Amino acid sequence: MSRKGSSLYISAPVNALVEGLYREDTLVRDILEQGDFGIGTFNDLDGEMVVVDGRVYQLRADGLSHDVPDEARTPFACVTFFRPYSFEDLDQPLDYAQLIDILDRMVPSKNMLYAIRLEGHFDYVRTRSVPRQDAYKPLVEVTREQPEFEFENVRGTMVGFWTPDFLSSVAVPGYHLHFLTEDCQRGGHLLTCKPHGIRVSLQHMPNIQLGLPMTLDYLTQGFDRDIQADLNEAEH
Ligand SMILES: [Zn+2]
Repeated sequence: MSRKGSSLYISAPVNALVEGLYREDTLVRDILEQGDFGIGTFNDLDGEMVVVDGRVYQLRADGLSHDVPDEARTPFACVTFFRPYSFEDLDQPLDYAQLIDILDRMVPSKNMLYAIRLEGHFDYVRTRSVPRQDAYKPLVEVTREQPEFEFENVRGTMVGFWTPDFLSSVAVPGYHLHFLTEDCQRGGHLLTCKPHGIRVSLQHMPNIQLGLPMTLDYLTQGFDRDIQADLNEAEH
């Protein structure tokens, strides 16, 4: 790692997504030039994005992974080049609160950005995926109708980030993880899980690169509203 360290690339501030700007037209293939690991969504809020080992997966509202066309675009994605330096094997069965406690212990400071990968066996996983939107609706209303999916005794990978609270207008604060099954066929935005034999890999990122969209919707949107309550409900 260079002296400068790695950085998190965020394609657009998350507050635009919360305000219902679901088309920021960033090409997914351009996202891949900024990182090989991360999460996001697609234009028109057409499912959850997982980027792992340089491959992009689109987990749509049917809970299934779909091929991502070369011209696919995104209103919001966060990626980094994942080069973890800290590992912990968790062999015992854990509930979600216990997992969060362990992650809290592993991250040396909550004021830093971290990329987090959990890989292995889960006794239980619950995810959601956002349904494609044809008309304007704020994110918090969309997620009230989100399809949810349950998995039992499943192997897979969780991909995501820890973001400090004070960055909550640009990225989702706290832990934000997306799940992909080992066969890469199913998954979604993580709601809760019970790991049972996983490896946790961690990397800190002391830099942020933030894209500001050039769409008319973005350039003319008012961002006066306090979106924190909406963001908390929509993303956790
Ligand atoms: Zn998500």
